[in-house]
Amino acid sequence: MPAKEVRDGVEISNPLEIAQRLIEVAVNDLGLSQGVYEILKKPKRIMKVSIPVRMDDGTYREFEGFRSQHIDVLGPTKGGVRFHPLVTEDEVAALSIWMSLKSAILGIPYGGGKGGIVVNPKELSERELEELSRGFIRELEPIMGPEKDIPAPDVNTTPEIMGWMIDEFSRLKGKNVPGTVTGKPIILGGSAGRVEATGRGVVFTIAQAANTLGLKLEGMTAVVQGFGNVGSVTAKLLTERGVKVLGVTDAGGGVYHEGGLDIEELLKHAKETGTVKGFNGYADFGNEELFSADCDILVPAALENQITAETGPKIKAKIVAEAANGPTTPEGNAAMEDNGVFVIPDILCNAGGVTVSYFEWVQNTTHLAWTEQEVNDRLFTEMTQAFDDVYQMKEKKNVKMRDAAYLVAVDRLANAMKARGWIR
Ligand code: GLU
Repeated sequence: MPAKEVRDGVEISNPLEIAQRLIEVAVNDLGLSQGVYEILKKPKRIMKVSIPVRMDDGTYREFEGFRSQHIDVLGPTKGGVRFHPLVTEDEVAALSIWMSLKSAILGIPYGGGKGGIVVNPKELSERELEELSRGFIRELEPIMGPEKDIPAPDVNTTPEIMGWMIDEFSRLKGKNVPGTVTGKPIILGGSAGRVEATGRGVVFTIAQAANTLGLKLEGMTAVVQGFGNVGSVTAKLLTERGVKVLGVTDAGGGVYHEGGLDIEELLKHAKETGTVKGFNGYADFGNEELFSADCDILVPAALENQITAETGPKIKAKIVAEAANGPTTPEGNAAMEDNGVFVIPDILCNAGGVTVSYFEWVQNTTHLAWTEQEVNDRLFTEMTQAFDDVYQMKEKKNVKMRDAAYLVAVDRLANAMKARGWIR
């Protein structure tokens, strides 16, 4: 895929090239050996698989899937699996790079991994989905394991799917291996608080950003793009902190209410109808309006390439919290920075998911179960510390938050490479 591609009239940037460019800048700024860039610029392994599924009507379909393992300098590779019709090899590669950077920023002993299957899961029955999930694990089995590569949920994948995956892997191994998949149902060794972890982490970073900027979170207004797991939990927890969530959009449309949305009720509506649109008879709300909305906090919690040369300059929010992976193109980022928007970059902002996945893996390894309170308290400590580390780097180097996040991550990865003798 070239640097820029036009799909349905929209300019799409290649996430792999974006990630590479940012890493190169960080390597140069830190005065590191060129070897660091060479090692980080692409995954060490990408496995491409074809998964046959017997459909309910008796026909067979082959689904294409990928698993990218970026780098294991800090530990086993780790990251989610997404089910989406637009999944590409480059996208999965970029997402695995971002996972390495995320874990480095949080000080978690993992490298980056990511998987994806080209599928619209809404078109599959539950049985077909289960067969697809199990088939993916059968193909991946040789490169998976608690000390090798550890999948988790991502876009359109759930604890239920993780349950099928861990069951398939354990059957193949002939023993229970719970630490191979995180985000599992709690009954199978999942962690309390994992389902909410990404959204909770997003809110912790927003709160710390407000603290740092001398702003009061209570009474602020927000809009959220995406109402899947991350968007809905973020919206709910923001409301609990006294933030008024004015508007939400999802793949089916959007809804806006000046007085703020009742997120619990909105969740019920979205569950019943499949979209937030039409909730309580409130006004429709499109992505165009979302990006130019008068609000304090904007949370992109959907897919890549949302804040662009076109939408970036329209943003009026004080804080943009990147709950999605890669929602912003370089042009979109520059536009926000020029306008003084405070950006909490994705590799910091949404790292709560992998952090609690790490807690889950630790619990699986020690055969202990932590309480939800303990998980949330530890998550708060980790996210706040990570925010402060990035903010200090920003101050020290006089750069913006995204560059600071890359500097923190690349510096730590380079130190590990040096310690292993990979570079001098
Ligand atoms: N899919 C999530 C992410 O992008 C979580 C990954 C994990 O828990 O390993 O960060």
